[in-house]
Amino acid sequence: MLVVGTHVCSFEIRHSKFATVKTLGVTGGIGSGKTTVCGFLEEQGARVFYADIEAKRLMQEEASVRKAIVEEFGPDAYRDDGALNRAFLAEQVFGDDERLDRLNAIVHPRVFEAFESAKARAQEEGVDVLVHEAALLFEAGGDAHVDVTAAVVAPDEERVARVAERDDVTPEQVRDRMGHQLPQDELRRRADYVIENDGSLSDLRQKSVDLYWDVRDA
Ligand code: ATP
Repeated sequence: MLVVGTHVCSFEIRHSKFATVKTLGVTGGIGSGKTTVCGFLEEQGARVFYADIEAKRLMQEEASVRKAIVEEFGPDAYRDDGALNRAFLAEQVFGDDERLDRLNAIVHPRVFEAFESAKARAQEEGVDVLVHEAALLFEAGGDAHVDVTAAVVAPDEERVARVAERDDVTPEQVRDRMGHQLPQDELRRRADYVIENDGSLSDLRQKSVDLYWDVRDA
């Protein structure tokens, strides 16, 4: 224990800059509950890096990424006001795996770079667990950048119903998006931890808390 002025501070080893931040990749198909799990992990003290949000930010704001996208897809990739033309890009890569791979080859390495910076910052600031949340963690190779991975899985019909309600889309549209992602059995096979989101939100919270402490103390 250290007494500073009139304040009494107790230092734990986890706040030492010598403790190593643990990195956890959280993935799951659409509507599986991964964002909800990340919220629960944050409550425990984890910091969450949302890879999909970072990818969007980079495509919008990072000059070198914008330049590479324009070189690959042409000037229509951005609107006159400078905003990313999502509809145009989606059209360009839809059903064309090669073009999608080229877009990913521009964006994914930059996302991982940003994650590595976030990790250095987390380490410096004494964060115990840094989470990398990504819908396509394994497909993009994000699993290579984290210590352990967790897959959130849920019954398909519940996922469809929840996303249809959340995003105000039809069940068919949700099933279509599910069809472009790794099957849940594959996620179960590849992840170090599997969170079965088949109960209430408070069950999910408890599972997330258990996951946090397991990773933190590993
Ligand atoms: P996406 O990939 O589409 O972003 P996601 O995997 O991040 O989805 P969430 O947004 O966390 O999924 O969850 C989808 C919806 O289902 C949310 O509205 C969430 O509140 C709800 N939900 C998740 N788990 C449960 C649960 N166990 N009970 C009730 N509602 C739940």
